[in-house]
Amino acid sequence: MTVSAERKREVRERARSLVADRGVSRPPVPVDRIAKALNIFVQYAPLDEELSGMAFIKDASAVIAVNALHHPNRQRFTIAHELAHHVLHEWHLRTGVHVDKVILERASLAALGVDDLEIEANAFASELLMPRDLFEPLVHQEIDLNDEAQLTVLAKRFRVSMAALQFRLAALD
Ligand SMILES: [Zn+2]
Repeated sequence: MTVSAERKREVRERARSLVADRGVSRPPVPVDRIAKALNIFVQYAPLDEELSGMAFIKDASAVIAVNALHHPNRQRFTIAHELAHHVLHEWHLRTGVHVDKVILERASLAALGVDDLEIEANAFASELLMPRDLFEPLVHQEIDLNDEAQLTVLAKRFRVSMAALQFRLAALD
């Protein structure tokens, strides 16, 4: 990994401020509403199973395409991930359509992103859906991290997949 700890902090900070701007005070974070507020158009389309989503600019409009066939919680992470590309990597989208295959669903480290853009987008998406101020009080006070059932409840509360929850837990401060 080549993304510095400082850059990751910056990326997470950016995601938190987007949530704060919308006045979100409890989960789940309305990721579709955040995209709308940023003038990013979210399109649901049936894509190949291994495709999660895409980010691109079309006729000067920012667009996110999400696989309509995936579970809604998985779609939320995809939207947050593609949103990250629009917010953080607009320069990259100017060079063409950004296509994301499976994001976070494989339990291998390689799937978490080896590419700097992907590492940043996953850090951003994770913080957007589970922002520190909403997430950490619950984790520290109410949840037994060894209790699978409690983790399932927590994932439901934030409307994220277990893979996304585990990824966020690994980044606890
Ligand atoms: Zn990506």
